[in-house]
Amino acid sequence: MNNRDDIVRAVVGTQRPRADRVADIFLSDYHPFTQIDTARLRLTPRHYAYLRISEGCDQKCTFCTIPSIRGRMHCKPPAMVEAEARELVADGAVEIILIGQDTTSYGLGEDAIEGGLASLLRRLNKIDGLKWIRLMYVYPSVLSDEMLDAIAECDHVCNYIDIPLQHISDRVLKSMHRRIDRSATERLLRRIRDRIPGVSVRTTLIAGFPGETQEEFQELMDFIRAFGFDALGVFPYSREPDTPAGRMADQIPDATKRRRVDALMSAQQEVAFSMARERIADRFDVLVDQTLESGSVIARHQGQAPQVDGVTIVEACDASPGDFVGVRCIKSKDYDLIATPTQTSLPVVNR
Ligand code: SF4
Repeated sequence: MNNRDDIVRAVVGTQRPRADRVADIFLSDYHPFTQIDTARLRLTPRHYAYLRISEGCDQKCTFCTIPSIRGRMHCKPPAMVEAEARELVADGAVEIILIGQDTTSYGLGEDAIEGGLASLLRRLNKIDGLKWIRLMYVYPSVLSDEMLDAIAECDHVCNYIDIPLQHISDRVLKSMHRRIDRSATERLLRRIRDRIPGVSVRTTLIAGFPGETQEEFQELMDFIRAFGFDALGVFPYSREPDTPAGRMADQIPDATKRRRVDALMSAQQEVAFSMARERIADRFDVLVDQTLESGSVIARHQGQAPQVDGVTIVEACDASPGDFVGVRCIKSKDYDLIATPTQTSLPVVNR
């Protein structure tokens, strides 16, 4: 699955199968980290880019097919990650979003890398011209204080944590094999907020996991209302073949899953709208993504990741995509913020 060199042969059908299972037929013989992502055709706008730091996953969440498709976790060596980041910056990227199935385990598996993720963040933080480094897909039980301190201390690492929690009920977390329970999750969330002042926390959840009772679902509802995530996504549990959860007997009907997703999203809507209102009068810097004919621009502050979070609309702003602008929030509109520039000479080159 990682063998990009064989894609054409696979499509035209000249690749000889090496296994019985369809998923195994085109598996690569070599580790994905040896595949360099430099000189790639980027699908994102020029000013931000995704950078894959690892491939595969050593966790064993019972609902997930990724480890069986992508295999064990392999990490790109730090020098390779840095070289790719420098190339992206030279190509115009000012924001780099670090991705991998489990970014927190960077360097912890069989490709042991000294200093792991914390050290990688500190290394990337020194790259001239790289203004924002954003970390996605944090695995909760691996997120250490050392990593949190690196995020807090590195000027260019966004005060932003994307931490898929999936659930909060002890029984469901155990059934998902998430290696963390409710009290450890709550301690971790407190540590995140204590160690990274002003951090934005995003999570994703699964509704309707096999056996999820009404009480367990209600526990999840109460939890998201109480904690107040800056952003949250909910997915209905999807029964994947060849997974332990897919074989569980007590599957939840689709209609119930949909109802639970809607209820969680409605609860989060109240939280997010209220948190957006609390930003009114705040001053912060934004990165411009897109200009509008109205003379406004669509931009994002550090706590807003592209494509998944809300945005900041800056009115009467003549900045261009890739510019940083100092703004003051004047109102909120649902999940989004409306702001006006506080500086007229653009671009503002520093956060
Ligand atoms: S859900 Fe994420 S952490 Fe869990 S096995 Fe899948 S990729 Fe790994």
